[in-house]
Amino acid sequence: NIRLSDRVLSIKPSPTLAVTARAAAMRAAGKDIVGLGAGEPDFDTPEHIKQAAIAAIHSGFTKYTAVDGTPGLKQAIVAKFKRENGFDYTPKQILVSCGGKQSFYNLAQALLNPGDEVIIPAPYWVSYPDMVLLAGGIPVIVEAPQAQRFKITAEQLAAAITPKTRLFVINSPSNPTGMAYSAEELKALGEVLRQHPDLIVATDDMYEHIVWDGAFVNILNVCPDLYDRTMVLNGVSKAYSMTGWRIGYAAGPAKLIEAMTNIQSQSTSNPTSISQVAAEVGLNGDQAFIGEMVQAFKQRHDYVVAELNTLPGVECLPTDGTFYVLPNVQGVIDRLDGIADDLGLAEFLIEQGGVAVVPGSAFGAPGCMRLSIATSMANLEKALGRIKQALA
Ligand code: PLP
Repeated sequence: NIRLSDRVLSIKPSPTLAVTARAAAMRAAGKDIVGLGAGEPDFDTPEHIKQAAIAAIHSGFTKYTAVDGTPGLKQAIVAKFKRENGFDYTPKQILVSCGGKQSFYNLAQALLNPGDEVIIPAPYWVSYPDMVLLAGGIPVIVEAPQAQRFKITAEQLAAAITPKTRLFVINSPSNPTGMAYSAEELKALGEVLRQHPDLIVATDDMYEHIVWDGAFVNILNVCPDLYDRTMVLNGVSKAYSMTGWRIGYAAGPAKLIEAMTNIQSQSTSNPTSISQVAAEVGLNGDQAFIGEMVQAFKQRHDYVVAELNTLPGVECLPTDGTFYVLPNVQGVIDRLDGIADDLGLAEFLIEQGGVAVVPGSAFGAPGCMRLSIATSMANLEKALGRIKQALA
């Protein structure tokens, strides 16, 4: 009779990983399932990055490193921020972690006291609310409807801030919506944040490189005065197709980075030595891979969005980037007998159509579903054909 902590009972397992696991189990049982649940690029990690890791193993670089990352990787991250974002950081302002997920986890643990509020725009990445709960904080969800291209307004942000608010989370381009905030929109949010000098900003730029047109904008590009209280989160998982290597990084105020490093020192210690060498080569090396991958995602995006919009009851906005689309399927739910919500529709699609998608409810977007386009055109064509048939 094992009694679990209130902490763990307050959260749920990652629903996106659950969909992927379910599809894998059905496939193992002999069912033909097209998986559109995955949150990772379908490309192989570039060869020069793999070779660097193999060389690191052969040279014996297989021991503990500094908790906050190797000097070489931290230097590569400093150089990346200068080159790509125009930001100045010293190595003391950088923490390398076991994936972007741990970066945000460390931040929540280092920053939040019980009852502290964290403003999270919905639709959101599934892990933000639960990581806030694990830190004793309270997720304050602000709804960004489809009519606003799934982005919150400055007025909504202002209305959500209370004396308890400690942190505001920006994820642009967003998982699951694929939408990115423009410079003007970020400037408007920044004007609200300026009136609350104690509020910390977390900007999760994990999909910064996966955008269709125009350069990526971070809030610090338009509000550089927020530098002293902004934590920039990023990683190599999506940009270099390195999800399994588990390297993410955070850059921000040295005091907060030091606190996050202390948290990490008592949980995982350093990220894998070999992966750090690989990430360093990824950041410093030839960036051509990213462009090729993004071109493929754009082509698939155009196909999937057009096809989804031919289905009665489905409305899918074209995105700004990422490898997700988040069609509104409320019209289908209303039309089909016996399907009550997006969870029911996702269940119906995997059972009757052999297509695995993630219900929007998992992301705070009921009535929607998330499709990952990080799979081949052949798979996407098969999936869309099946969805069309199942919904007919
Ligand atoms: N942030 C966002 C918005 C994500 O979608 C993900 C992965 O799905 C992450 C962070 C974490 O990435 P990882 O921990 O794999 O580096």
